[in-house]
Amino acid sequence: MSRFISIALTVLCVFGLSIASNADSKQWYKGSTHVHTLWSDGDAAPEVVVDWYQQNGYDFVCLSEHNILADGSVERWYPISDSGPLTPARVEALEESYGKRWVKRKTSDGREAMRLKTIPELKRRFEKKKDFLLIPAVEITSVYPAIHVNAINIAGLVPAVNFVGTTEGVISNLELVRSHAAKNSLMSVAHINHPNWQDGYSAETLFSIDGPLIFEVINGHSHVRNQGDDDKGMVSTDRFWDIVLANRLQRGAEHILYGIGTSDSHEYFKMGPKEANPGRCWVMVYAESLDAESIAVALDKGDFYASSGVVLDSIDVDRKGIQLSIQAQEGVEYTTQFIGTRKGVDTASSPRVDGEGEEIKHATQVYSEAIGEVLYESTSTEPRYTFTGDELYVRVKIVSSKEMENPFSHGGFESAWLQPVLVAAK
Ligand SMILES: [Zn+2]
Ligand SMILES: [Zn+2]
Repeated sequence: MSRFISIALTVLCVFGLSIASNADSKQWYKGSTHVHTLWSDGDAAPEVVVDWYQQNGYDFVCLSEHNILADGSVERWYPISDSGPLTPARVEALEESYGKRWVKRKTSDGREAMRLKTIPELKRRFEKKKDFLLIPAVEITSVYPAIHVNAINIAGLVPAVNFVGTTEGVISNLELVRSHAAKNSLMSVAHINHPNWQDGYSAETLFSIDGPLIFEVINGHSHVRNQGDDDKGMVSTDRFWDIVLANRLQRGAEHILYGIGTSDSHEYFKMGPKEANPGRCWVMVYAESLDAESIAVALDKGDFYASSGVVLDSIDVDRKGIQLSIQAQEGVEYTTQFIGTRKGVDTASSPRVDGEGEEIKHATQVYSEAIGEVLYESTSTEPRYTFTGDELYVRVKIVSSKEMENPFSHGGFESAWLQPVLVAAK
């Protein structure tokens, strides 16, 4: 990532947000904190998945399986079968790519199986060059309601709990990650996944939870409805973010919500808009070095942005405003929206109703359009916004004119989402 070495990031020194100055030694690292393999419901062997991310310019990846951690404490023999994802042809391809000694097969009761590689084995093979990092993680997957929370940088499995209330479920899972980190003297980070997957959860779910939170503002899975779904009463993840920010920040600056981008990749052989493929969305993390602790520390501080293709050369924030430099591609146009909510905004809400006027249960309520308004829009590749002082926060979304290489089924242009900046009074 040498092209990012000289990037300067200065985060506003108010309300306890972190600071990174021009003189620091930090760098940008590209990664995905949410990835699946055959260890859970992905369709490729873990070495194929890690190899894909390494070959495609990622600096780090977190294998985050559903409720299982391939840390070597468990062995898994996956059936080789023409009716499953691990076909004989795919095993032969593995032997060809990695060697026959690498691939372990056995036959018992007349069935053939292959042993899945563990994270320690994958680390030995793929971290050899020291410019790539595998971070142990898990997608804590509670069955009811369907809340998924990723725990990044863990020393063992963080088990899921099932519960009745959605807010209580999120709190319980976040608490599990906190206590795991304390017990193991680790910096573990949690993010709350895909608000609009299946029945989803409402923005109100996150209002009363204490402390900073991270949620997936963009998830590369094909079924997560980042754009919202009117029929189900789901707002877009952008609108969700502003509603949560406006309501949480009224409780105090420490209750910020950061937005992360992840791939949530499951399918590695068939590419297309209906598949959960790798590479659609990711996170750029501004960290001290490429090690799990540094990446987790940067995520915890909000020193990252989400991307589906747009990359920045610099992000400068001071008391006066936000100055960006977009890494422009030839022939591509960039529209930068500075989105915010003003202090004292009316956060009253009313129930969301369907076409027949019936209230949609568990849907995010309807709020004022003054929440998450576009304060200023620019088509410059060096856009600047000057604070007026009456903003509660300002966040940035950049949308390019370039269609994503492998878009969602509803399309999608390469974009970036930066973290909200809390604005001091003038
Ligand atoms: Zn999930
Ligand atoms: Zn997932």
